Formats: sequence, structure tokens, C-alpha cells
Amino acid sequence: MDFKEAQKWVNDDWKKNSKPVNKHLELLFLMEEIGEMAEMIRKQSGKKERKKLKIDLAKEMGDILICLMTLANRYGIDLEESFLKTKKKIQQRHRKGY
Ligand SMILES: [Mg+2]
Repeated sequence: MDFKEAQKWVNDDWKKNSKPVNKHLELLFLMEEIGEMAEMIRKQSGKKERKKLKIDLAKEMGDILICLMTLANRYGIDLEESFLKTKKKIQQRHRKGY
């Protein structure tokens, strides 16, 4: 599944199965998921089993992607295009040596 397919799936599934929420709440959901990922990374220094931690971290990253795609859909942003533009910018920066 590529970015476009994933964003379309999120859009269709969201419309079908979720209560409408405002964009500020969608942003808060994204921030909440980023906080959950931060917690997983913080726990890496604790006693949690490494394999379990990787599974939990992957789950949180999945949550973040869904929230980001929901927000991108809200604003009509094509994340694949955004990624490619940012990739090009980074490559140009690296070619210039800074
Ligand atoms: Mg989560």
C-alpha cells in the first residue's frame, strides 16, 4: 500500500466509522500518539523486554501515521507529494554540502 492508497483508506474508513471531530481535536490526537511513542522510547531505558518494546513502539508509530493522514486529509494535503518535495529539498541541501 502506498501513501495515496493509505490516505484514501483512512479517509474512507474515517468517514464510515468515526464521529466527526474538529481539526483541533485531530491535532490533539496526533500529539497524544506522539506522546505515547515518547513514553515507549523512554521505557527503553527501563526493564521492559526489548521485543515487547519494539512491538509497542511499532504500534504507536502506526497510530501516528493514521492520525497524520487524518489531518492531511482534513487539509487536502497529499502526503506522498509532501514527502517527495521534502526529499528533494534534503537531497539539494546535501549536494550543496550543508
Ligand atoms: Mg497509541
